[in-house]
Amino acid sequence: MFEKILIANRGEIALRVQRACREMGIRTVVVHSEADTEAKYVRLADESVCIGPAASRDSYLNIPAIISAAEVTDAEAIHPGYGFLSENADFAERVERSGFVFIGPRPESIRLMGDKVSAKDAMRKAGVPVVPGSEGALPDDPKEVLAIARAVGYPVIIKAAGGGGGRGMRVVHTEAALFNAVQMTRSEALAAFSNASVYLERFLENPRHIEIQILADEHRNVIYLGERDCSMQRRHQKIIEEAPAPGIARRLIEKLGLRCVEACKKIAYRGAGTFEFLFEDGEFFFIEMNTRVQVEHPVTEMVTGVDIVQEQIRIAAGERLRYKQREIEIRGHAIECRINAEDPYKFTPSAGRITNWHPPGGPGTRVDSHAYNNYFVPPYYDSMIGKVICYGDTREQALRRMQIALSEMIVEGIHTNIPLHRELMIDARFVAGGTSIHYLEKALAQRR
Ligand code: ADP
Repeated sequence: MFEKILIANRGEIALRVQRACREMGIRTVVVHSEADTEAKYVRLADESVCIGPAASRDSYLNIPAIISAAEVTDAEAIHPGYGFLSENADFAERVERSGFVFIGPRPESIRLMGDKVSAKDAMRKAGVPVVPGSEGALPDDPKEVLAIARAVGYPVIIKAAGGGGGRGMRVVHTEAALFNAVQMTRSEALAAFSNASVYLERFLENPRHIEIQILADEHRNVIYLGERDCSMQRRHQKIIEEAPAPGIARRLIEKLGLRCVEACKKIAYRGAGTFEFLFEDGEFFFIEMNTRVQVEHPVTEMVTGVDIVQEQIRIAAGERLRYKQREIEIRGHAIECRINAEDPYKFTPSAGRITNWHPPGGPGTRVDSHAYNNYFVPPYYDSMIGKVICYGDTREQALRRMQIALSEMIVEGIHTNIPLHRELMIDARFVAGGTSIHYLEKALAQRR
């Protein structure tokens, strides 16, 4: 096992990885920007290195600075967390070429899945059901594009091959709007992801977002840890996640899980990963694979008892998976609310000092957050300041505990979306379970 790991991230996930390391007796190095110097998790780490100014491109995305930090501190492995460099194949390669272990998949797997066109293609070939759409990237010829869209059927969604974080997507309802939409998505994709390649899919009108968590070791052992339902989204960004997905037959999930396991074996995948699907009328359609730990991993940890971050570290150290598929049992129910520093009505980011921080607690309640009393939320990064995760023997109990947790929680000095979560936890449709990915936006429109 490693003696020292460098954590190339910030915020709650930096703390989460640090906790996993400490439990395993591994020393930690945290790298941070000038804006995060005061953060408590930075002080809690065995060592910390300032790698640059506040702007992410100069610090958390600064590959040479991160590698140097690993060199001067004698770290053996680098955990990239999520976001930032976690799905950057060049970074993974540079890490390995510099003699460190990248805690994540092989660079080839990251590259394959990072391009959504090649990812879909690989999954289609591996027997995973995909959303009907263009086979590969869209051609330049407008006539060909028209023909493809016609064959797929409207509405369609144009998506950037290099897209991520809910960006680089455009829904098209009519043929008249098609070509313009393709051009706009192309130029946005070129600017944002340096990749003008776009593809087209049928836009599903009423799907749920269901994803399968997998773990794969270097010795070709692969397991899946059940599913998560992440349908509560605003602007294609998840805000509430739960496990298991309410109302979906176990045998459907088991079939899908085994398909994902097979696909991992086919592409010789290593590490933790998530297969994302849309689920409509009893059918699953693959949309993309995330080759990293996800924000919502705790709900799976709560219902399986598996520590996903620790497993990532063990896999990277070359160990065999400690679980067999038949040992994975889904018990009870878990719900996660992402706590964002933002206006709960207008959704504008709300940076600033937290003057009063009182997190909830009690049986089955877990809070993953780097925030504390007097913590200053910097304006430079993602607005998520933590996650509240509640577990119950049943979904009803998990919901009830979440309602209580949110009622106890106090965050003052900045705005947060806690009032929105409080409303949603008693929203009749959400409480009933099984809402589609469009439900939240519709509910928000009515609220205004
Ligand atoms: P990203 O990498 O940006 O997260 P995804 O491909 O995972 O992009 O899609 C994000 C979200 O966009 C999905 O969870 C879903 O809400 C919506 N979406 C993507 N593809 C489709 C589709 N074909 N039909 C309907 N909604 C879609």
